[in-house]
Formats: sequence, structure tokens, C-alpha cells
Amino acid sequence: MRRVSIFGATGSIGDSTLDLIRRDRDGYRVVALTGGGNIAKLARLAREFRPEIAVTAYPERLAELRAALEGSGVAAAAGSEALLEAADRPADWIMSAIIGAAGLPPGLRALRHGTTLALANKESLVCAGPLLLETARRHGATILPVDSEHSAVFQALAGEGLDSVERVIITASGGAFRDWPLERLAEATLAEASSHPNWDMGQRITIDSASMFNKALELIETKEFFGIAPEKIEAVVHPESIIHAMVAHSDGGILAHLGAPDMRHAIGYALHWPERRPLPVERLDFVKLGSLSFRPACETRYPALRLAREVMQAGGLHGAAFNGAKERALDHFIAGRIRFTEMADMVSRVLEDLAGSGALAGGVTLEEVRRVDQIARETADAALRLGTAAQ
Ligand code: NAD
Ligand code: MG
Repeated sequence: MRRVSIFGATGSIGDSTLDLIRRDRDGYRVVALTGGGNIAKLARLAREFRPEIAVTAYPERLAELRAALEGSGVAAAAGSEALLEAADRPADWIMSAIIGAAGLPPGLRALRHGTTLALANKESLVCAGPLLLETARRHGATILPVDSEHSAVFQALAGEGLDSVERVIITASGGAFRDWPLERLAEATLAEASSHPNWDMGQRITIDSASMFNKALELIETKEFFGIAPEKIEAVVHPESIIHAMVAHSDGGILAHLGAPDMRHAIGYALHWPERRPLPVERLDFVKLGSLSFRPACETRYPALRLAREVMQAGGLHGAAFNGAKERALDHFIAGRIRFTEMADMVSRVLEDLAGSGALAGGVTLEEVRRVDQIARETADAALRLGTAAQ
């Protein structure tokens, strides 16, 4: 029986992961489940999957979680220390599916135990790629990508050397506004940005898909995880989301990974790796599909992509600054404090300020990443107060 823990169990990736586990209940023992503010859902999942422990990220919700788990035999805990303690519990496979930079510390802790970490939390790699990879190497741990594009690249690279790789092309659906005229984007509402044409995901990553901040994170994630030079990494808009990524080799051959837009593929691939096992995802019918289309990922429409290029070139702590500023800009957009198009302006301003002040000069340690994450958020807030985000 494999021991598994799921960090971010109450989210969209958590749902898909538990769907796969549920189909093979005898194959797995769930060690820890974690969530945020949705205590009822966390408790319901804990009663169903009987982990040793259920953890909410929020200490003020502990009493509620305890009450909801009364008599279940599942221990309740809360807060960031409890998340780390949950990551210390021996498990063979750990899903890292907390959203945002908050996913970094538990993932890093899990790697110290030499576990296999299925990494949906792309922010970990964006903020601290070298630290994550080095920690995994030092402790003999394995990181498996769960982002669909990166799972696709990973699969396309199986048995291949990096030397012959000319280009890695990750696809983007183009998000909610791919067909909108540019001048309308500034007026985009929260509701409009929160609906995705192809994928069913959490709200934050759905908005990040509309702004392409998600793709920007993924470009950086590609560089960090696979060690591929930034100039070899491209994004292309592919509205059907059937091809997830392509790896182009120096002999002119291109290996593409195709599949229905369903995260259970990438999650299941990481769950069963290095084997392949049957998964409950739709099979493609090419005749029904008819055609696949592609468009350029335009940096005028999607300034986040241009910022990602700068971050990839600069490396070091720029990723942590980019992610922290992006998370805060997204908070401000969700709260109605800035326009959709002002998110990129805000992130750009923060990167400029922090790089200019020398704040990004240190090495990629957990302490430095935390410091930069914090000042990136504060600088974003200051830009909001001064109204300078859009200047
Ligand atoms: P979600 O918002 O649906 O779920 C996030 C989970 O994290 C929830 O369990 C929530 O309770 C928990 N959480 C939120 N804030 C937290 C905090 N501060 N501390 C601890 N836990 C917290 O998000 P999602 O769409 O499932 O995405 C999860 C991760 O997977 C993200 O990094 C995202 O970029 C990545 N990802 C998601 C998809 C997708 O299809 N949803 C695809 C690729 C990658
Ligand atoms: Mg993705």
C-alpha cells in the first residue's frame, strides 16, 4: 500500500488527485490532508479518506476543524508549523497543490525526507527553483512535474538527452480574453476573468490564464525544472488545449504530447511514474477534432510574457519578486482595487524597484526567498497607495 499525502487537498488539483485515489482505495493509505478556509470540505475528505492528520493553514479555524472531526479518529492541526509537521510524516508520494508561494515550505520540507514530490505548485519553482532542485538532489528525493505542460515536456523528454533539444514549446489556451480586442481588456471584470474556455481550475489560476501570468510562471518553471536556456523556451497560443507541449530536436523532429484537457492525466502520470497505468480521461478522436490551431503569444496583449523573459534572464531572486508581486496584484484585482491590465504594470514596477534597490542580489535560500516575497508584496501595496502602478 502506498502512503500518500496531499497538500492543498481541498482545491481543484486536490479534487482530481483524490478522484484517482478514490478509484483505488486499497492501493493507498492517506497520511495527511491539508486545506485552507473550507473546513467543511477538509473534514468531509478526512472522514472519507481517514488520514492520520488533517491540517488547515489557518490557526483561527482549528477549533472548528477539531469539532468537525470529533469522533473520526483523525487528528486536527493548524498553521504553518503544522503544515511542516505534516510534511515530516513518512509518505511515499506527496502532492504539492497549495496555491501560491505558501506551497514552498512544506514541499521543501517533504523533499528533505527523500520522498517523491508531485509538484503542481509551480510557484515553488518560480520562487526557489535552484533551492528545490538542490534539496531534492541532496536527499535523493524525486520531483515530478504536475503542471500539464511540464508533465508533457517530461514525457516527451523521456529517453532523450537535453543536448539535442533546440526548443521547448509550451502551449497556452489564451484564456478568457483571447478573442477580445486589446482596447477592451482594461474593462475586463472579475467574473469575466474567472471563467476559462477549456480547463476547470481554481479561481486564481483561471485569472492568471486570462492575463497569461500563468504562462509566464510556466516559462520560468520550464527553465528552472528542466535547466533549458530561456531563449530555447517558447509559448504558443493553442486554443483547443490538446497539445500540451512540444520538444523540438536538432534533427528537425518534434515530439508533442497530446491529450484531453484534464489534469487527472498529469496527476495520474506522476502518481504511477515510472509506470503508465489506465486513467479515466477522455480519449481523443482526431476526426471529431478536425483541426488544431495556433497563434502567436503576443507580448503586447500579454505583457506578463515579456516580464517572464526578463525574470528568466536575470534568474536568482527575481522569480520570488515576480511571483510575490503577481500574487499581490492578483489580490488587488480580485478585490476590485486595480484593473485587469494594471496587474502587469504593478508587477513590472515592483521588479524595477527591487532590482534597482539591490534587494534581489542575494542567493536563493528559503530566508532570502521569504524576504523578497514579503518586500515584493509590500512594494506592490505601496505602488497601489501611491497610484503609481499604471505610470
Ligand atoms: P485552488 O485554489 O483550487 O486550491 C488551492 C489549495 O491550497 C486549497 O486546498 C487551499 O485551501 C489551499 N491553500 C490556499 N491558500 C493557502 C495557504 N496560504 N496555505 C496553505 N494552503 C492554502 O488551486 P488549484 O487550482 O488546485 O491550484 C493548486 C496549485 O496547482 C497551484 O500552484 C496552481 O498553479 C497549480 N496548478 C493547478 C492546475 C489546475 O488545473 N487547477 C493546473 C496546473 C497547475
Ligand atoms: Mg499549466
